Amino acid sequence: MSRVAYVNGQYVPHSHASVHVEDRGYQFSDGVYEVCEIWKGQIVDMTPHLDRLDRSLKELQIPAPMSRRALVRVMKEVISLNRVNNGIIYMQITRGVAPREHNFPPAGTPPSVVMTAKSVSPHKMDQVAAKGVGVVTVEENRWDRVDIKTVGLLPNVLAKQKAKEAGAHEAWFVDKNGLITEGGSTNAWIILKDGTLVTRPATHGILRGITREGVLKLAEKKGFSVEERGFSMDEAKNAREAFLTSASGLVMPVVKINETILGDGQPGPIVQDLRKSFHDASELIKLTVAGGNAPGVC
Ligand code: PMP
Repeated sequence: MSRVAYVNGQYVPHSHASVHVEDRGYQFSDGVYEVCEIWKGQIVDMTPHLDRLDRSLKELQIPAPMSRRALVRVMKEVISLNRVNNGIIYMQITRGVAPREHNFPPAGTPPSVVMTAKSVSPHKMDQVAAKGVGVVTVEENRWDRVDIKTVGLLPNVLAKQKAKEAGAHEAWFVDKNGLITEGGSTNAWIILKDGTLVTRPATHGILRGITREGVLKLAEKKGFSVEERGFSMDEAKNAREAFLTSASGLVMPVVKINETILGDGQPGPIVQDLRKSFHDASELIKLTVAGGNAPGVC
């Protein structure tokens, strides 16, 4: 079956899904987004993802386009219409369509809502994780409000392209104090020789990753000590293990930072354990569509 997208109230073939040329997301990056993992027919950590979406909208003064109940219903429809059992759902809300002017459009302009879902093979992801990935460092050059999950991702795009060209999987931003902030689309972690997990506090300079929050809970459950503080490149290069977290990659072992191979160049036992047991600490919402007729695809 071909893919289906939700665009402003309609379920349309993915190949024809489009928004207006004067959508403010298209013209100004004036919008926010979320990505949730779908695992074994369940939405992972939906509540915290939607809480963060609400916060992002509020920070940008974009009105909520619909109730949470309605949003969840659309999410479930999109996932089910695309028959996704394992994969991701992408949701984007922008300030809507209006003649191009920087200041906000008139009150009452409806926000635009787009959702897509796609299958991702867990086996393929696990194969990547089994080998571990490399990261390269780039200078932090983003604005001060990276805590808001906006679609304005140009520095992230350029950083991740640089990583790709260097044969790496991710780019780590390094701030003016020489401390790693986060990756282009992931949060950054190291594990010290004594087994302590270290990640930057979510108070400033990073997106408060939902997977990061999950790993914090899991680490507590497992009795690991955790330090939420910045860490330098020197510390990272001498770490016992390192990893990335994100909804789309979960817990991804890092085995190389720039030219430095970590340990024996293989994913370490702590990271592997956190990856394997990640869903033990997450909220799992089953994908049954609640009552009523499924909207037709047009
Ligand atoms: N930082 C950035 C810059 C990201 O884009 C993402 C993923 N969207 C993350 C961290 C990880 O967040 P989450 O665990 O909620 O996917």
